Formats: sequence, C-alpha cells, structure tokens
Amino acid sequence: MSTYQDLLAAVTDPSGREILDPATGEVVGSVHESTVAELDDAVAAARAAQPEWAGLGHAKRSEYLHRAADAVEANAEALAELLSREQGKPIKNGPNAAFEVGACAVWLRANADFPLEPEVLVDDESGRAELHYVPLGVVGAIGPWNWPMMITVWQVAASLRMGNTVVVKPSEYTPLSVLGLIHVLNQVLPADVLHVVPGGGEVGKALSEHDGVDKIMFTGSTKTGQAIMRSAADGLARLTLELGGNDAGVVLPDVDPQAIAGDLFWGAFINTGQTCAALKRLYVHEDVYDSVCEALVGVAQQMPMGNGREEQNVLGPLQNKQQYDIVAGLVEDAKQGGGRVLIGGDPEPDQPGYFYPTTLVADLPDDNPLVAQEQFGPALPIIKYSDVEDAIRMANGLDVGLGASVWGSDPDAAMAVAQRLEAGTVWINKHGAVDPRVPFGGIKSSGYGLEFGVEGLKSVAASKVISR
Ligand code: NAD
Repeated sequence: MSTYQDLLAAVTDPSGREILDPATGEVVGSVHESTVAELDDAVAAARAAQPEWAGLGHAKRSEYLHRAADAVEANAEALAELLSREQGKPIKNGPNAAFEVGACAVWLRANADFPLEPEVLVDDESGRAELHYVPLGVVGAIGPWNWPMMITVWQVAASLRMGNTVVVKPSEYTPLSVLGLIHVLNQVLPADVLHVVPGGGEVGKALSEHDGVDKIMFTGSTKTGQAIMRSAADGLARLTLELGGNDAGVVLPDVDPQAIAGDLFWGAFINTGQTCAALKRLYVHEDVYDSVCEALVGVAQQMPMGNGREEQNVLGPLQNKQQYDIVAGLVEDAKQGGGRVLIGGDPEPDQPGYFYPTTLVADLPDDNPLVAQEQFGPALPIIKYSDVEDAIRMANGLDVGLGASVWGSDPDAAMAVAQRLEAGTVWINKHGAVDPRVPFGGIKSSGYGLEFGVEGLKSVAASKVISR
C-alpha cells in the first residue's frame, strides 16, 4: 500500500515538465515525456511479451486482472489524491476521485469474469463451424483528461483479458494519474505486458502510425479521432473511437420536476460537466418548463464547488485553461443570444483556479452555440418546446450521437421517444449511467466500436473461424 507521497515519488521526474493543480496553480509533480525512440522501445517490448501473455489463456489472465483490481483497492487513497490534485475533481464526495478509482477495480474484475466461449455457428451433417476470438497483438490506448484513470482501465482491461499487450498514451494534461495507476497495476502484472508513453499529440500520432501496433483504442475529441484514422491507415490498425458528444435530454410533460431534478443535475454536471456522455442540452415541455428550471436551480444551489481536498465540495474546477475559455465563451454567446441566466454565468476574475460557476441558461434558441456545440463544462442550456415532434427533431439535429435521455412518468410514452432518439445509448429517467456489463459506444461523429461487456472483449480480438 503506497502513501500519496510514495506514489508521487514513483511517477514524478524532477527534470520533466511541471503539471499544475487546476484548483490552485500549485505544482503537483513533473512528467518525463517519451521520445520517439522510447515509444519504439515500448512497442517492441510489448510485442515481445505478447505471445507468452496470450499463451497463459483466459483463466490465468483473469487471475491477473483480479490481482490488479486488488492492487488498485489497496492503493485507492493514494490514487484518489493524485487524481484529485492533477485533474481537479473532489476526492470523496459525489461521483468524484474515490468513485473513479473504485470504478477501475470494478471494470478490471468485470472484464476478468465475462464468459467468452467459442460460438458454434453450424453443427449438422454438413460439418461444424466455430467462431473463436483470438488476440490482435499490441493495442495502443490513447486517452483524455476528464476521467483519466477510469478510461485507461476501460481500454486496458478488455485488451489484456483478450491476450493483447498494451501501450498507453495518456493525455498531456493528466499524465501523472495514469502513470500512478499503471505503476500500481505493474506491481502485479508480468513485465512488459503494460507500458505507458507520456507525451502530447505527437506521441499519440507516432503510436497511431506505428507498424508494431495492431489496434488503437481512442477516447477524445472527434477532430483527433479523424486524425487517428488517417495515421492508422497505412498500417491498417483497427480502431475503436469514443469521440465527443452533445447529449440531448427530452423532458416530457408528465414528469414530477422535483423528483427528477437531482438526477437531471448529476446527468449534466457530473465531473463539473467534463464527461463525454453528460447531458449537454435539455429540451423541456412548456407545461413543466418553469417548474423544471426552478427545481434545477434549487439543486444547483446545494452543490458546493471548490478545491477538491476540502471535504464539503462536490464540484471542482475545469481541468485546464483551454476548456475554461471554451465554457466561458459559450456562456457569453448564450447571453448575447438572448439566454436568461438562471444561476451562474459570472466567474470571479483573478482567482487562482479554473473555477467556472455552475450555470443554467434558459430560453435559448436551438441554434445558439451553447446548444449546438459541446461545452464539456458546467453550463447547461434549457430549451422550451411545445410539440414532442419538435423536441425529437432538435435532439436528432446534430451530427453527434453518444448518449441521450428521455424523462417521463409513462413508460410506454418514454420508450416511444427513446426508440426515435439517435444515440449509442438512450437512458430513460437517468443520464450517463454506465455499467461494465452493458456495451457503450457512439454513432454519427461520436465514433464507432463498442466498449464493455462481451462486445467490448470482441472488439479487442480478431475473429477466427474454425470449420470442418
Ligand atoms: P483530445 O482529442 O484533444 O485528446 C485526446 C488524446 O489524443 C490526448 O491523449 C492527446 O494527446 C491525443 N492526441 C492529440 N492529437 C493526436 C493525434 N494527432 N494523434 C493521436 N493522438 C493525439 O481530447 P480531450 O480534450 O483530451 O478530451 C475531450 C474530448 O473527448 C471531448 O470531446 C469529449 O466528449 C471526448 N470524450 C469522449 C469520451 C467517450 O467515451 N466517447 C470520453 C471522454 C471524452
């Protein structure tokens, strides 16, 4: 079991690039960024280790994944503190750092335990055909800064379970968290099965182009996903692309506003809104519009934002200046476009951290930039509609489709709307809940390929038919 100081000492390199705490501007630690030669070495070592790892078989690899989950749990406090200091999310309260570290253990165990037997496709007088799933080789895992540990585990756990070895490229904004996680995992995994190459986009590009990499698991923006497709073309590396979203929620007229307000709030503001499948635009029927707005303001007033090491806070800062500027700019656009700010929208100038207050903006037209673009932060536009057909049309009107939600008391009416919303996942009376057993992935420009569940295992494997 490491203390926070032990863990930081294991991953920080005093001669490297300084990483600053987004809540205070203080230095958290320093990261050594990989050169192309170091990346080549990591891929070569992962390639060399892969046959033996694959040769262990599912049962032995699953044992390793369970041991990895135990190691995460044994080091949970240190991991959560490092994550909080680097990413900004509060340590304990709400779905924050301790929750993220806990999810890492849950996903490791779930991926260890999914049954994956060969599928018998034909078994009759004509013969027998079976579909097997075999390792691809080396997986490159490129991740974002919002849920850096959890998303790394999402990419790594399934890949390792299927007999691949992995080279992880963390976001340049949150490398220490991922280095800390991998340091813990590597205390129990065999040597060279899991590598990490910190660095910026150029390291990610070199990994995507690398001829020693068989598959790229990517989570991040649509623009980077497109660049990765180009980089991966020559080597024909397979891709899973979990890209940006702008999830719509449709609130039907028969809801109880007070009863849904808490879940609506967390659907939108989890991780201070920095979540791929957060609720990012809310369409509310005119009959309940004022009462939903009022109930949401009531919840928002109860949610303290501040330094994540102070016990009472449930919301933290934006992780970086770039994201802060995007959110601030979109809220200005909303004000210019006639939006009525119900709460927030007035960040304190000259504060040390990237804190943008929880913001709700009503009465916006559907084409305002705060509605049409991904804010990825704590500012939710609330749009009024009178005909559910209009709400469905507006919800489906953007070229993204990660998640969506419907809120209503009549299950049949909610299901009818859910079936018409264009998204990889449609939730009813909740938003953004993920489960390691349930496949997750986007459509349209939110990407393709599935993670989680048996489908997630298959996506990091090659299918192989054996026929006789
Ligand atoms: P980003 O695309 O800027 O960066 C993601 C990663 O790609 C980083 O590690 C970065 O260094 C790397 N990268 C940058 N250029 C590259 C290149 N040319 N080749 C290879 N790698 C490169 O995204 P971000 O700002 O870190 O994350 C925010 C975005 O991610 C949002 O749009 C959000 O919706 C999306 N996201 C999606 C999911 C999902 O599951 N669909 C989850 C989290 C975040």
